[in-house]
Amino acid sequence: MNICLNDKIFEIISEVVTEENISGYVIGGWVRDCILKREHAGKDIDIVVIGNGIDIAKKTAKRLHPKTKVTVFKNFGTAMFRNGDYEVEFVGARKESYDRDSRKPTVENGTLEDDQKRRDFTINALAISINKKTYGEFLDPFGGLDDLKNKIIRTPLEPDKTFSDDPLRMMRAIRFATQLNFTIEERTFESIKENAERIKIVSPERIVTELNKIILCSHPSKGFILLEKAGLLGIIFPELDNMKGVENKEGKGHKDNFLHTIKVLDNISLNTDNLWLRWAAILHDIAKPVTKRYAPDTGWSFHGHEFIGSKMVPDIFRRLRLPLNEKMKYVQKLVELHLRPIVLSQELVTDSAVRRLLFESGDNIDDLMILCEADITSKNEAKKTKHLENFRLVRQKLKEIEEKDAVRNFQPPVDGAEIIEAFGIKPGEKVGIIKNAIREAILDGKIPNEHEAARRLMFEKGKEIGLTAALPLTLLPNQQLQEDDR
Ligand code: ATP
Ligand code: MG
Repeated sequence: MNICLNDKIFEIISEVVTEENISGYVIGGWVRDCILKREHAGKDIDIVVIGNGIDIAKKTAKRLHPKTKVTVFKNFGTAMFRNGDYEVEFVGARKESYDRDSRKPTVENGTLEDDQKRRDFTINALAISINKKTYGEFLDPFGGLDDLKNKIIRTPLEPDKTFSDDPLRMMRAIRFATQLNFTIEERTFESIKENAERIKIVSPERIVTELNKIILCSHPSKGFILLEKAGLLGIIFPELDNMKGVENKEGKGHKDNFLHTIKVLDNISLNTDNLWLRWAAILHDIAKPVTKRYAPDTGWSFHGHEFIGSKMVPDIFRRLRLPLNEKMKYVQKLVELHLRPIVLSQELVTDSAVRRLLFESGDNIDDLMILCEADITSKNEAKKTKHLENFRLVRQKLKEIEEKDAVRNFQPPVDGAEIIEAFGIKPGEKVGIIKNAIREAILDGKIPNEHEAARRLMFEKGKEIGLTAALPLTLLPNQQLQEDDR
């Protein structure tokens, strides 16, 4: 019994195709990952039949459970259903021919081998028969098993044909090389270089899906180096491509910001699976090329790159079709704040600087610290240890101040409604002035983050801007509510 068919679902499909007298195979990612003993990452099973895939999908689903819901994509000739953790997709074997200017192929029915030829890589074209007579037999016309063993990504056909038919496959080659830690066979890679420009006919949505899969790998730098070498990076992500290289003036150079960035990305990948934190690592120095200056006495500087970088994020997200919502704002915030913990690591830092960072970063403070630690890419071990130790002290300071002052999710101890009531005024600018004064005094440590102190300041500030209390002072609620712990 073939270990790749070690699931009840294959028995049922086997019964159906055998009864229907149709050849059926499991193909693609399932077979590849099974041989590699990878956890079935995507949890999808692809079945190809020599005949009507939709029909076999419906019959299998019915036998599995009369109520199984089958989703049919008539245009693609495919159908799928869920079975427990898995999605099982059925397609009739097909032969495709492409027109040079589009990704939409003309499709006809074909043999298994026709179908294997239209697959992207030899390791994704492996099929295992599931008909009773030939159950478990491998069909491997392009040497996919050898390529799996030798860790090689190679196209089943002439690579120029495979990539020109569907240029997204160039991204997929690099994605699989990064995910599986495989090498792209030389001719295949040469062809990617030659066809790189054709990535432009692929929709940004499909490109970013592959890009995000690369970013979520355990060593994403490998993928970015391949994208750069292939000439794809400059087309799909010019801002990152722009960070390459070192300029020298009067014998002074700066670090290569592209290599630094992908190192930070690798570092952060050891500590988080959060795609957006990984995106923050990619973008933290993105404005270095546009802020770069050289001065003979002080050398290279990148003043304000954190602010400019944060402002560059929306355009990049829009163009790449990343979400323009709170995920983007989170990335912007981390980019903007990424230098602040370094300032806090200096010895003479005041409590109020710590409070301000807590206030501005809120619940993102932990992710910000992970980013800062990943940002240490010095090859000098002594320096690295020193920086890490400094950040440990910053974490400790943050913790102490947060325990004392609770400004991380700052809620003003005196709110607008209370100010309006206290002075009998209408909502407006003066309420804002008082609220700001209270917040600033708390962040500066001039008053504690408590209701009574804040209320006292409210009256002082109100008086200063010409307001008078609405009630005689003796009747003020704060004097009745001495123990108020709001
Ligand atoms: P994963 O699910 O881990 O991303 P996979 O190999 O299952 O990997 P899918 O995108 O789910 O990838 O595609 C399933 C199969 O369909 C692939 O194994 C491959 O045979 C084929 N395939 C997918 N996309 C393409 C493509 N753009 N060109 C050619 N074949 C493709
Ligand atoms: Mg899959």
